[in-house]
Amino acid sequence: MMAMTKRPILIHPDPRLKTAATPVGEITDEVRRLADDMLETMYDAPGIGLAAPQVGVLKRVLVMDCVKDEGEAPRPLVLCDPEIVWTSDARNVYEEGCLSIPDQYAEVERPAEVEVRWTDLEGGARRERFDGLWATCVQHEIDHLDGKLFIDYLKPLKRQMITRKMQKLKREKARA
Ligand SMILES: [Zn+2]
Repeated sequence: MMAMTKRPILIHPDPRLKTAATPVGEITDEVRRLADDMLETMYDAPGIGLAAPQVGVLKRVLVMDCVKDEGEAPRPLVLCDPEIVWTSDARNVYEEGCLSIPDQYAEVERPAEVEVRWTDLEGGARRERFDGLWATCVQHEIDHLDGKLFIDYLKPLKRQMITRKMQKLKREKARA
């Protein structure tokens, strides 16, 4: 059993959050360790999704668990090299947030359903259709792997306002 370690989450703006991540390819122990650490980091935050670039690793790995009901069993998912292979015409609006943009929320419109293909931690090929919050979350996280943030969907003025707030937050953190 590997010990899980919480990793620091990068805060926007950071060039690593704007960089496209590279494919994982073969699933190694290093990838499994990264995924375990990312799940630990995500649950601790707490959050429902986390992409490797958010912990400074430019690999195409994301983790998510959108189970919200307290009574329901957790469903941690690890997606390596995920690819959206189908999107619905129907669209959905969700108020999104991001662990790399703390305490900022905005409505983003995306396809309501998506089908995603990925490699699991055993190296197996997986394919699943997601809807509801899961669909929004997986698209938000795959965007991270392409160096894209949810604020990139907002009007420039709103995006700049949020970015300035984050710059201020980072300055305050650096001083603390
Ligand atoms: Zn995010």
